[in-house]
Amino acid sequence: ASVFENVSTAPADIIFALTAAYKADTDPKKVNLGVGAYRTEEGKPWVLPVVHKADHIMVDDDNLDHEYLPILGLEQFRKASAKLILGADSKAIAEGRVGAAQCISGTGAVYAGAHFLSKHYPFKGAACYISKPTWANHRAIFEGVGIPVLEYPYWDPETKGLDLKGMLGAMEAAPSGSIFLLHPCAHNPTGVDPTPDQWKQIADVMEAKGHFTFFDTAYQGFASGSLDKDAYSVRYFVERGFEMFIAQSFSKNFGLYSERAGNLTIVARTPEIKNTIESQIAKAQRAVISNPPAYGSRVVSLVLNDEKLYGEWEENLSTMANRIIDMRQALFDELTALGTPGSWKHIVDQIGMFSFTGLTTPQVKVLKEKYHVYLTDNGRISMAGLNTKNVKYFAQAVDDVVR
Ligand code: PLP
Repeated sequence: ASVFENVSTAPADIIFALTAAYKADTDPKKVNLGVGAYRTEEGKPWVLPVVHKADHIMVDDDNLDHEYLPILGLEQFRKASAKLILGADSKAIAEGRVGAAQCISGTGAVYAGAHFLSKHYPFKGAACYISKPTWANHRAIFEGVGIPVLEYPYWDPETKGLDLKGMLGAMEAAPSGSIFLLHPCAHNPTGVDPTPDQWKQIADVMEAKGHFTFFDTAYQGFASGSLDKDAYSVRYFVERGFEMFIAQSFSKNFGLYSERAGNLTIVARTPEIKNTIESQIAKAQRAVISNPPAYGSRVVSLVLNDEKLYGEWEENLSTMANRIIDMRQALFDELTALGTPGSWKHIVDQIGMFSFTGLTTPQVKVLKEKYHVYLTDNGRISMAGLNTKNVKYFAQAVDDVVR
């Protein structure tokens, strides 16, 4: 008998299972709107031209070796990542109270922050509140480190927008010192972000209740096309004096999905506290990954620390953001032309990689089985999967399933 006889099989990851089903489908009309990865107008993955350039610079650099990075990663990458999200003129950086840890992409950064909180957060038993809905991994990561997870209202199915009242109510009702996980921009999966005025109201309650802010940003520059605009909420919170963690992913905005380039930016009250937090994260990181991988962080670091490459990156970001914004408009126009029942304005109001269509699970099933269109059961579509060749087909399929 095996010692593992009583282990039950874990369910497959929904997104990865969806991609596998799409790949196995032989119908030429098939459309993949599942995975959150950028696709070109031809439906192909895109190596950003600036990344291609950085690849070549690195190949030609005889000084690069394959030695271990430090436990907290590449120094220039960490510094540049913190500066990217907080702004070049950040007072917190100037005051020496901003730390950073290179992690295994955005996922690893959320994990590193969550793991630190599980060990050192002073409010014992404090829960982490995640938006309803959110990226599925948030719950898995926090529960995985033993932090209880609760939800705050976010998506209002009636308005297909933000349930601000519900969100603020949950923040008021949560015990002081709770942890709140917030998406700074391009909320996954809804594509619905608070406005500056709503961020102010959120900050007011967070401050009054002494909650801890944990930002998770996977789409800076990808949402609006502007790196500064997409960092608004984070910079606003820093300006108001919050201590916080910010998990950053470079998967989407650099197209570096497989290279696992990410960073945890730490904004602490004092330089001493920043140093202490970094030391604990380094100690924990040593036991999990020893030290992070170099390739992706070198690419990002090259681009962020070179004015000319940085400018090219901004152009590449605009290309991606604008194609997605164009696809929102195209989908909205097709549905309007078809007279598809219901209001579809939210498609153009939402922002970033995803749109929460409002399609129901039974409708999603028909889309998959009859039309070979793959999307998650909650009706979320990855806008990047649409292009001028398939948007009409998709709109017709939607029209059919909602009638
Ligand atoms: N956080 C959110 C909200 C995301 O949507 C994602 C990716 O889909 C991530 C974090 C992390 O992605 P990665 O680990 O690939 O950087």
